[in-house]
Amino acid sequence: MSRARAEIVVELPLIRHNVRVLREHTGVEMMTVVKADGYGHGMVPAARAARDAGAAWLGVATIDEALGLREAGDTGRVLSWLGVPGEDYAAAISADVDVTAYSVAELREVAAAVGAAGRPARLQLKVDTGLSRGGAPLDAWEDLVAEAAAGQARGDWTVTGIWSHFACSDEPEHPANDAQEAAFRHALEVGERAGLRPEVRHLANSAAAILRPSSRFDLVRCGIASYGLDPAPGHTPDLGLLPAMSAVAELAMVKRIPAGAGVSYGHTWHAPHATTVGVVPVGYGDGVPRHASNHAEVLVGGRRRPVRGRVCMDQLVVDLDDDDVAAGARATLFGTGRLGEPTAQDWAEAAGTISYEIVTRIGGRFVRRYVDEGQE
Ligand SMILES: *Cc1c(COP(=O)(O)O)cnc(C)c1O
Repeated sequence: MSRARAEIVVELPLIRHNVRVLREHTGVEMMTVVKADGYGHGMVPAARAARDAGAAWLGVATIDEALGLREAGDTGRVLSWLGVPGEDYAAAISADVDVTAYSVAELREVAAAVGAAGRPARLQLKVDTGLSRGGAPLDAWEDLVAEAAAGQARGDWTVTGIWSHFACSDEPEHPANDAQEAAFRHALEVGERAGLRPEVRHLANSAAAILRPSSRFDLVRCGIASYGLDPAPGHTPDLGLLPAMSAVAELAMVKRIPAGAGVSYGHTWHAPHATTVGVVPVGYGDGVPRHASNHAEVLVGGRRRPVRGRVCMDQLVVDLDDDDVAAGARATLFGTGRLGEPTAQDWAEAAGTISYEIVTRIGGRFVRRYVDEGQE
């Protein structure tokens, strides 16, 4: 096998560390969210690390993701939450995966699948408390709860959870947070009045889990913070979370360019004086955001080097100044920050996005490698 020219290095001990820190900080049961291939870290290794660190639950968007966890041998509680019409609920029920219903139409699909699965479903109900995305709107909630209670009485399922999701938890002072939490408490009362006694009531994602104790209920659903990234930059206290992913490549070429030389497509940067540039052999085809052109930095030879000109499909150019750096030198796009390298948060700011998008989209021709010092 050829040597990897570009690697995504995932440090599993850091995921375990982060999950433990979050469990201690929140004091409730933990659902580690491993959707979208574990936010780019690899769903199965991330899930194993989370379980090792005591995550009682794993959260995924799709039933396929949940079944992937089962195929990899995971036997713990798993919740999937984003069905589409015609979803294979029978496969999820057979695999002991908790499924989520947003509507009476979805309840009917789950009920039809129960027969095929030959066992009752574990069903969670999602209420829309103000995100206006998935979940039952408040004016449909009583009907959904009534149908769900009837299905439970028939033996079609057990309602194992009632939950919702915040819109603005990364802005702790935003008034939507109070409004959503109040709406959630009301929705829980409606469920109780209908006789539902779910195992878990949950509302908080990473930002709320850390910043809003009143929203923790029985369980928190932590995605981004499990990977060591800050869910609410500027608001989060320092808990010692450590970014688990690094993206590194080797310089393909190093050369001198004269004063005035235009760099990369469109010549959006010109060298003010003669300088040395390095070619980093990754680009937007590998998930490096083109929006970070002329803004991001890369660590080479112990120093942060500015990206000059546009990020291309397969490569980008960094300014090495007059330093003596050779082709083949290690270029760290982002990592833990421990060695002075930028973080995914830095890249997010350079590209006008959030760290979630940086780590989830990085991929392409990067080869993922896991570092695991064994159980600590
Ligand atoms: C992705 C997701 C989460 C995790 O959010 P983070 O901000 O990454 O902690 C939690 N709940 C739901 C419903 C999600 O879609």
